[in-house]
Amino acid sequence: MTTNTPVTSPIWHPNTQMREWSKFDKIIAGKGMYLVCKDGTQLFDAVGSMWCNVWGHSRNELVQAMTIQARKIAHVPLFNLEHEPGVKLGQMLVKIAPRMHRVFYSDNGSSAIEVAAKIAIQYWSNVRVKKKHLISLDNGYHGDTFGAMSLSHIPEFFSRFKNHTIKIEKLISPGSKSMANKDEDTLLQHCYNATEKRLAKGDVAALFMESGAQMAGGVHIYPKGYQAHISKICKKYDTLLVLDEIATGFGRLGHMAQYVPQESRPDIVTFGKMLTGGYMTMGATLATRRIYDAFGGKFSESRHLFHGHTYTGNPIAASVAIENMRLYKKYSLLAHVGKISKTLGKYVPEFESRDIVDHVRHMGLAMGIDLGKKSRTHLSDKSPNYTIFQIAKKHGIYLRTLGNTIALVPPLYASNTDIRKMCNATLATIDELAMR
Ligand SMILES: *Cc1c(COP(=O)(O)O)cnc(C)c1O
Repeated sequence: MTTNTPVTSPIWHPNTQMREWSKFDKIIAGKGMYLVCKDGTQLFDAVGSMWCNVWGHSRNELVQAMTIQARKIAHVPLFNLEHEPGVKLGQMLVKIAPRMHRVFYSDNGSSAIEVAAKIAIQYWSNVRVKKKHLISLDNGYHGDTFGAMSLSHIPEFFSRFKNHTIKIEKLISPGSKSMANKDEDTLLQHCYNATEKRLAKGDVAALFMESGAQMAGGVHIYPKGYQAHISKICKKYDTLLVLDEIATGFGRLGHMAQYVPQESRPDIVTFGKMLTGGYMTMGATLATRRIYDAFGGKFSESRHLFHGHTYTGNPIAASVAIENMRLYKKYSLLAHVGKISKTLGKYVPEFESRDIVDHVRHMGLAMGIDLGKKSRTHLSDKSPNYTIFQIAKKHGIYLRTLGNTIALVPPLYASNTDIRKMCNATLATIDELAMR
């Protein structure tokens, strides 16, 4: 297209009131933990590329891994064929995910969840047992496609589509708004009783939940023992447990598979986001041998999994995921996360000391800072996200809020200095907001 008039961007941005924005900053490069804007400004990436970045941007080893694979072949369908990076990555994934036996690749987190739902439904159909309901948790988030939306429960995101999604019951969870002021023991008893009562009917095919914490629901960390207990109830009533590790796995909360420290025994597990270090789009759905074996039989029995995507298991994505996981070992990344998580944690009282801040929750390298009622008078009629993004930018960081919650989700390899910088800039942002 040749034209002399300036071309305005045709991009329709995700979850964004477009009228609030007269323009968007163009990012022209990434430099480690920083995003380089066209005007030369550098912003610390406190969003971690929408929670998927591990090593910072433009990391040489990761770029190399992609380039080398792209030169060999950029895409190989897994229909009738396979490729070395896909096989190798699969082997690495079943190693970090205890009891998992097979990996089904897709190209984003929502798709990984759709696949998990289809596997769970078809499993019971294959073994000819009538369990027809999927179930999930209040305040959960599993993605934006219809199946994933149906499993999710954040009214602000999904209420418009309520009449068109699949009806899926939601169980009360520690992140439920109605549980906000309950003490922990009461809250857990409520959750356990509700779960047991529902699963005891024997008709629930699978329970879906995030592993370790509800991230999009505002970074709500599960109380100790909660996930382990839910897992036990699932086993008791033979309901499949599907654990969504898309946001919380790969070290975000401190472990590769968060269900390991949570002492739970899933039947199906999903990974996404940080799987490729944030360099390529990829999702993975893993299943145990028991699940996988139920899909075997004669072709005429139609027991095989009815699902497939064009870009399933893309070799460039698989190659960069392998290199990403190799670097986890080389740099003992989980130990690093444990160390700098403490630095982040030290800021909790600082944030909580602010008048407009209500609650702060933190685990690993994720933090949710709730702006309370007192913040309302300081926020303009624009969205909290817009206002906070603009102030934070002045203080040198890129922020994206979840409703009234500021989410800090930095790249995992950020240094202690980076974390202090990020927290101080966030404090400055909150203080500036409180002055308005
Ligand atoms: C981001 C996310 C998804 C969806 O992944 P997309 O790649 O955005 O489709 C699913 N589950 C959880 C827990 C997530 O945080």
